[in-house]
Amino acid sequence: SRTVNREEHTDESAADFNEIAQTIFFPIYPVIANQILERTGIEQGQCLDLGCGPGHLAIALATLSDLKVCAMDNSRPMLRIAEENIRKYRLERRVRAVFGDVMEIPFNTGSMDLVVSRGSFFFWPNLSRGFSECLRVIRPGGIAYIGGGFGNARLKDEIAEKMRVRDPEWKEKRNRWSQNCTPPKVRAALVFAGIRDYDLNKDDSGYWIVFRKPLK
Ligand code: SAM
Repeated sequence: SRTVNREEHTDESAADFNEIAQTIFFPIYPVIANQILERTGIEQGQCLDLGCGPGHLAIALATLSDLKVCAMDNSRPMLRIAEENIRKYRLERRVRAVFGDVMEIPFNTGSMDLVVSRGSFFFWPNLSRGFSECLRVIRPGGIAYIGGGFGNARLKDEIAEKMRVRDPEWKEKRNRWSQNCTPPKVRAALVFAGIRDYDLNKDDSGYWIVFRKPLK
């Protein structure tokens, strides 16, 4: 059974998440971006970051590669902050903030070389629909890299400690969110989306699902 995690941001809650991302989470984004680039080998072309929030992963990917990145979210308050962050890093030519829902991604079939998403799939109302939308927008041979995490064991521990102080309920909330994306639920959703060939890894880098769209 799947209970939907509601995540509707106000200007205030989006600013709060941005503040956490700018301070506590900040070092994870380049670490995760490098892991994505190394693991996929895709360093140029068009990338889509689903549920980009304030845009830090999209910004790190554009900074560390030649990718052009569409940073997509279905929260207007998050996107307004993402736009500010993109300007702050002077990446307006390489990163674009786009409004859209993972349930109906507003991009053409086969238009993306790489689709990434961090910390968002816990909130997708229909996991299988999200995966099938990812598969649709990737070009044949392109890769999806979807999941969550903090990059490595040291960062994970440091962040857990800082977040424990800031929000004593954080661990509890994370456990609750992750119930929607247990490996059995994710495996079932992938199969339902017609994705049989994938990697599902849970390790110090986080919990990541990686799949390639077959070359026809
Ligand atoms: N990826 C960012 C990061 O790692 O810093 C933000 C993660 S935040 C925990 C989750 C984000 O996913 C939020 O910005 C939320 O608005 C977005 N989101 C949740 N469900 C979504 C959906 N169905 N379509 C698009 N974005 C969604």
